[in-house]
Parts: sequence; structure tokens; C-alpha cells
Amino acid sequence: MDLNTVEDLVPTADPADYRPGDAWLAGGTVLFSNGSSTLRRLLDLSSAGWEPLAARKDGLEIAATCTIAQLYGFASAPPTAAADWPALDLIQPCCNAFVASRKVWNVSTVGGNLCTALPAGPMTALTAALDGQALLFSPDGTRRTLPVTELVTGDSETSLAPGELLRSITLPASALSSRSSLRRQSLTSLGRSAVLLIGRTDPSGLFVLTVTAATVRPVQLRFDRVPSAPELRAALDAAIPSSLYHEDVHGLPEWRRFMTEQLSEEIRFELAGDPGEGTP
Ligand SMILES: Cc1cc2nc3c(=O)[nH]c(=O)nc-3n(C[C@H](O)[C@H](O)[C@H](O)COP(=O)(O)OP(=O)(O)OC[C@H]3O[C@@H](n4cnc5c(N)ncnc54)[C@H](O)[C@@H]3O)c2cc1C
Repeated sequence: MDLNTVEDLVPTADPADYRPGDAWLAGGTVLFSNGSSTLRRLLDLSSAGWEPLAARKDGLEIAATCTIAQLYGFASAPPTAAADWPALDLIQPCCNAFVASRKVWNVSTVGGNLCTALPAGPMTALTAALDGQALLFSPDGTRRTLPVTELVTGDSETSLAPGELLRSITLPASALSSRSSLRRQSLTSLGRSAVLLIGRTDPSGLFVLTVTAATVRPVQLRFDRVPSAPELRAALDAAIPSSLYHEDVHGLPEWRRFMTEQLSEEIRFELAGDPGEGTP
């Protein structure tokens, strides 16, 4: 699509440079697909030079500009610092949940996926499920951190203020130490995710289920142990009113609700380890 009103491409990662009519440009796969008749300048993040991934003792920092291809490659050969993080196994299935060519993978970014805030955004699913904390830089020089579950607030809606820049997402080591289970459902074999669920249990026994794609924004349920099937079902009902289920050509809300219940139970059963465990 054309961006006929854009007059300038500014290489910067400094939010102080932002003015109304600007947009941050990462991989550009959304900006150039959707087009615009109002944008005046693109603030090009490709000059930022941020290290795409940094594994430390306390967690994994993913730069907003990390591409899907870089993230996938990291999971193929994680560094020694990440040796004890079984939840890295979630990375490649989440990358594969992109309905996109290698060409798109090579340029589209983790940050761009979160800021686009599609319900089916697989990077939203991954980072929300692993308790990701988003680091945000504001044009007035202030910084704040926000859980990914609060950054993505609806279908194409975020809590970003005008000009605010997503710098990185940090996944804590406690979440990365979890055992995990993922289920994805789509109406067609190569279709967009209509339901994308990730469950995990960490070494303390905490059970976390994150619902994405089925709902317009991420919904997370947390239990101090693996719940029973009725407990999980009741918690899903309480947390997700009908209006929160997403409706588009990729699936009716009633079907998404049904699949969410079915697949959540599969995840619960798998993570319980023992079919008897977690039952009332
Ligand atoms: C063929 C094709 C298939 C696709 N398939 C999928 C799919 O299956 N699932 C899916 O979720 N998406 C899909 N997309 C959409 C898109 O590729 C992804 O959401 C991608 O991750 C967006 O990243 P980007 O770097 O290209 O974002 P850009 O296009 O550069 O930016 C997208 C938006 O985010 C803002 N933004 C980007 N980075 C930042 C930042 N660091 N801070 C603040 N704002 C920022 C931009 O200003 C813009 O509004 C697809 C796109 C194409 C063209």
C-alpha cells in the first residue's frame, strides 16, 4: 500500500524526536500493508542497534526490534545461560503460528507484533504467557514497565501513549523455568490462529493459563497448583464473558469458547502429569 503523505524517514530511537503524525517504523510489514493517508513521518528503528536477545541469570531480554527469524534462531541454539529454561520450547511453535512467509519472518519484529495487537499475535501469546514485562520509553523522558497482559488491551488496541516506544520485553527466569504446553486451533490448516492457549507450571507448582487469539486481548488465569477440571472451567467462565471472545472470519465466538474449554482441559491434564493429580 502507498504511504503518499509521508514526507520524511527519520533514523531514530529517541522518543523525544516524536511529534504528532509520526509512526515508529520497525519491520514495516503492517505499516506498508495497511497504508495510511495521515502519517507525515516514519521514525526508523532499524538504526537503533539494540542487541536482539540477551540471556542473563534473571531472565531473557528481547529487544522490540528482534525479528521473528532471530528469535527462532535463538531457540534453535540457546546459549549456556539459557540451558535451564525448558519454556524456551514455546518459542518455535509461537513463531510457526505466524501465517507468513520467510520474507515477512525476516523483517517483522517482536515489538511490532505486540504494538499491532492483533488477537492472534503469536508474540503477544508467547510473552504474555511467560510473564513478559514491557519496557516503555515516553517522549517526555520517563520510563515505565508494564506486563504484556496490560500492554495489549483489545483488538488492535494497546495502552501505549502517543509517541511511546516499546524498547524491550523481559521474560523472567522463574517463568522460563516452567514446563509448558501449547494448543493452537485454526479453521484451516494454514489459517490464522483462532485459539492459541499456553499453560505452564513453574518449579513452585504455580499453574498459569494464558488465553489468546480466542479473545480480543490476552486473558490469564493463575492458580497456586494445577487446578481440577471443574475449577479451571469455572475460572474460565468467570474470567471470559461472551463479549470478550473474538469474532471475525477466522471463527465464531461460540466455537472459540468451545475450543478454549476443550484445549484448556487438555493442557491442564498434560501439566498435571498424573491423571489423578489436580482432581477434586
Ligand atoms: C503476509 C503477512 C502475514 C502476516 N501474518 C501475521 C500473523 O499470522 N499474525 C500476526 O499477528 N501478524 C501477522 N502479520 C502482521 C505483521 O507481520 C506482524 O504483526 C509483525 O510482527 C509486525 O511487526 P513489524 O515489525 O513489521 O511492525 P511495523 O509494521 O513496523 O509496525 C506495526 C505497528 O507497530 C508500531 N510499532 C512497531 N514497533 C514499535 C515499537 N518498538 N514501539 C512502539 N510502536 C511500535 C508501528 O508504529 C505500527 O503502528 C502478517 C503480515 C503480513 C504482511
